[in-house]
Amino acid sequence: MIERVLLDMDDVLLDTTGACLRHMGVKGFNILFDYPIAERDIYVAYNCLTRLTLPPYVFWEHFKREFWASIPKKSTHSELIALCMGFVGSDNIAICTTPTKCGDCLAGKLDWIQRYFPEYMQRQYIMTPRKFFCASPTTVLIDDDEETIEKFRWAKGLGIVYPAPWNENREHMADPMPFIKSELDKCQAAC
Ligand SMILES: [Mg+2]
Repeated sequence: MIERVLLDMDDVLLDTTGACLRHMGVKGFNILFDYPIAERDIYVAYNCLTRLTLPPYVFWEHFKREFWASIPKKSTHSELIALCMGFVGSDNIAICTTPTKCGDCLAGKLDWIQRYFPEYMQRQYIMTPRKFFCASPTTVLIDDDEETIEKFRWAKGLGIVYPAPWNENREHMADPMPFIKSELDKCQAAC
């Protein structure tokens, strides 16, 4: 049986890449069609779309606490939480997210959790760049970053790569929930 589910925030529960690019002035961006590269790094995508060459530390300086506190939810946000809750119950879900190196990001993510998550989830979060420290054979991490999932699996956790243009499951982007449900069923069968 799956005992716990960890949910990534950026580009799993929240439309972070779209919000970042819009914040930087990229107009009419649609992640289904307009993401220009195969890599995960948003600043590289930004440079490619704008033909600029901003280094990452300059790019990320544009994102202050209020930006991180007000990123829009993905349309699948509530459905994803409800699906996971059906597997493990509300006590056994936690948000697991990696802030940037900037303190504003860490604080803004906490603001977001307190503003928008239901009350029962407001103390169920883990902020870490070392998600694999949370791995166990009955814990599932849902995350859009393949490398993070690889490390989590290496540490004996169960991982689901959430569909995004920069990962192997991009074909499920337009309708990710049936795919996530079938992956959770596979994890359940494997436990
Ligand atoms: Mg993410």
